[in-house]
Amino acid sequence: MTVTDLVSYEDALASYDPVMGLEVHVELGTKTKMFCGCSTELKQDANSQTCPVCLGLPGALPVVNEIGVESAIKIGLALNCEIAEWCRFARKNYFYPDMPKNFQTSQYDEPIAYNGYLDVQLEDGEIFRVQIERAHMEEDTGKSTHVGGATGRIQGASHSLLDYNRAGIPLIEIVTKPIEGAGARAPEVAKAYVAELRELIKALGVSEARMEMGQMRCDVNLSLRPNGTETFGTRSETKNVNSLRSVERAARFEIQRHAAVLSSGGTIVQETRHFHEEDGSTTAGRIKDNAEDYRYFPEPDLVPVAPAREWVEELRGGLPELPRLRRNRLKEEWGVSEHDMQSILNAGAVDLIVATTDAGAPSDQARKWWMGELARNANETGRGLDELPITPVQVARVAELVTAGDLNDKLARQVIEGVLAGEGDPDTVVEKRGLKVVSDEGALGTAVDEAIAANAAIADKIRGGKVAAAGALVGAVMKATRGQADAARVRELILEKLGVEG
Ligand code: ADP
Ligand code: MG
Ligand code: ZN
Repeated sequence: MTVTDLVSYEDALASYDPVMGLEVHVELGTKTKMFCGCSTELKQDANSQTCPVCLGLPGALPVVNEIGVESAIKIGLALNCEIAEWCRFARKNYFYPDMPKNFQTSQYDEPIAYNGYLDVQLEDGEIFRVQIERAHMEEDTGKSTHVGGATGRIQGASHSLLDYNRAGIPLIEIVTKPIEGAGARAPEVAKAYVAELRELIKALGVSEARMEMGQMRCDVNLSLRPNGTETFGTRSETKNVNSLRSVERAARFEIQRHAAVLSSGGTIVQETRHFHEEDGSTTAGRIKDNAEDYRYFPEPDLVPVAPAREWVEELRGGLPELPRLRRNRLKEEWGVSEHDMQSILNAGAVDLIVATTDAGAPSDQARKWWMGELARNANETGRGLDELPITPVQVARVAELVTAGDLNDKLARQVIEGVLAGEGDPDTVVEKRGLKVVSDEGALGTAVDEAIAANAAIADKIRGGKVAAAGALVGAVMKATRGQADAARVRELILEKLGVEG
């Protein structure tokens, strides 16, 4: 099927109702792997972070990572789930070279968390409740690299390399119940859900949840049923969608593709599909195994997990404010529109602005610098805001200097530029570059006198009542002081000296 075989989105929705299921894998930020003491740091050489357990050597015995369990419970609680009093791990059997044990240690019918929900906010402010089926613990696989072909795929490769450093890194898989009733907004709901989940995971501190680094990946299940009917259609499962935008595009594409197949009398096969960033399309992967093909059975080498209720309640008590509520609170406090709040969020600036106000800056100043000068610099240099070599404390100091009248905006921008260039703290940059506002009234007065003398014609106009012409003189003074004067004060002085009211 090619892209031209799609039904238009509007036509698809006119006849069909989408049902979605989202499966999100989150790589936990634990120091060690889920069932052994190997480090989870991926910087090292291939296969350097391995041991008999994560290499699946005969006789090796796994031990559960306590922080892994704790993280799973925190996620479960934040998703309003029930936490199992007793649950087990299960072996999911299949052969794949990057999985040295030939089974993945996962959970099957006894997940640690189940029956929850997450409220997500859509762009127009509407709240949509996504029901959560389960959140369970499992482990990541290793990584294969196919060498010798043109595409990096296994087809055409001469050989493959295997790196088991990632094998055994803790994963939490979060599965939604079928999402119904979103209609044409299904792709938007999918994106908003994954976005909200990502914020939640970050707020819990259990993972950095960087999608671009594969720390969080989403499988998008989608089916259509004729409008007005109840029974679900057959689903497709688009695997490993790695950005918020792609989640939305994948859902949209599948709606259009399913509609094309169904409306021409065809049938959808239950299969996995690959998403392609270049054109937003999906192509067929493998026909989907049934659960029974995995021959799940309880893992005999691990003890059951039976989290004490006191522990669960203690973790519940320590949960942070939910991202959606925090966002709405900050939006109120800062007095910004939903649109501006969205931009701040998209820029990844919320926490930086909060840290800057915590360091004493007024919120409008904090927002202004992070969303202005610093966002521009981050953009130009291809970095995230949090990767810039400037701290919220430093930005707060710049704001303080501006508020005190020691810097005007133009000078403040130069100070920031200096900090980013590694010239030191704001005060050091001010010192080294000589950037203080000229507040010495004597020096300012002289500069104003000189500007009036050099621009006699303009001065006459102002005397004659054309106050608007003062801008040209202000400009001349600013130029003479290399931008280091307070423009408002300069204007006052000019009008004063020319004997006109401002
Ligand atoms: P699998 O292991 O086959 O991926 P899961 O139960 O883990 O199965 O995940 C399937 C996901 O798809 C769940 O989120 C589920 O709610 C959803 N789902 C199930 N049936 C359908 C359907 N017919 N259409 C859309 N989504 C579905
Ligand atoms: Mg699946
Ligand atoms: Zn190991």
